[in-house]
Amino acid sequence: MPFALPDIGDEEIQEVVDCLRSGWITTGPKTKQFEQEFARYIGDGVEAISVNSATAGLHLALEALGVGPGDEVIVPTLTFTATAEVVRYLGADPVLVDIDPVSMNVDVNTIKAAISSRTKVIMPVHYAGLACDMDAILDLAQASGLRVVEDAAHAFPTRYKGKLIGTLASDITVFSFYANKTMTTGEGGMVITRDPKLAERIKIMRIHGISRDAFDRYVSKTPAWFYEVVAPGFKYNLTDIASALGIHQLRKIDRFLLRRQHLAYAYFEGLQGLPLTMPAGTSEHGSHAWHLFVVRLTAKARLGRDELIQKLSEHGIGTSVHYIPLHRHPYWRDTYHLTAEQFPHADAAYQSMLSLPLYTSMTDADQQRVISTLHELLS
Ligand SMILES: *Cc1c(COP(=O)(O)O)cnc(C)c1O
Repeated sequence: MPFALPDIGDEEIQEVVDCLRSGWITTGPKTKQFEQEFARYIGDGVEAISVNSATAGLHLALEALGVGPGDEVIVPTLTFTATAEVVRYLGADPVLVDIDPVSMNVDVNTIKAAISSRTKVIMPVHYAGLACDMDAILDLAQASGLRVVEDAAHAFPTRYKGKLIGTLASDITVFSFYANKTMTTGEGGMVITRDPKLAERIKIMRIHGISRDAFDRYVSKTPAWFYEVVAPGFKYNLTDIASALGIHQLRKIDRFLLRRQHLAYAYFEGLQGLPLTMPAGTSEHGSHAWHLFVVRLTAKARLGRDELIQKLSEHGIGTSVHYIPLHRHPYWRDTYHLTAEQFPHADAAYQSMLSLPLYTSMTDADQQRVISTLHELLS
């Protein structure tokens, strides 16, 4: 049993076959359709710009906001390296901050303490799929003249005070469709913004700094061969093969969410009484997409985290750790002279955490096996 598994049906397979037979396999009509349908799902008049990964999307977001050498971007230490690496792509410096030990999200007071005269952007991550306290972060950003880019790789769909992530007052939100995320295109991502200037820059930089993409040239009236390069852009466009998957994954996302919620609630119930700290669930301010179900062993547990992962693996149960905090990775630690003492909550969480299997095609019986094995190992 893996800890995550994509849920691909016949609809996705048919759409990919249709794409392959159509002769148009790179960015084209299916990508246009996927973007339009994704924007409609998010609502509120947003623009949805597809990219070949969320990492690409985060890079384009910071580029469009003018982040460059000398600038600082505030990033949680408990995230995937992509959140911080895109800051380095632009020659700027990520400033890592600790998390709140209950929500596991960035805390506004910690962010406030990290602001300097060089700070340009705050990048909150909705860890595991639980919304950060965005009102506080957006208020702080506004008061401090900072921009906000939400790393929403875990948060499709997540609501904050009833509003979908993607519709809040931040500048740009980026979703991921990597294979283990809540919906997938294999590799892929979506950049959401309501700012037409940012959208235009992102669309140009997504495809070599060219002012019109290939499909626009194909359907518009000016000669198909003509294009203009206005900047040294990137190659970050999403293919129609990937969008064919995305079109049908998107149509299933509400059903996927219900299944994830059901599995999460069953873990809450089934794991009661074990020496585990359960994740923060849906709260008064935000809903949870349940991309990950992260538990932490308490001091009372008779097994250590590494030993528990090993024992579960021996029982055929896959788990993972999200994440080894950035301050523990050699590149980040050595470049910015970071120590674990600077991030006590994230570091303690890391040492006791594991992510349990949670995916839409997981059966109730699969999950009962995880629960009973945990009882056997920890009771
Ligand atoms: C998966 C992930 C990313 C990167 O997404 P890709 O689509 O794989 O580039 C970025 N940030 C976080 C928090 C992630 O989990």
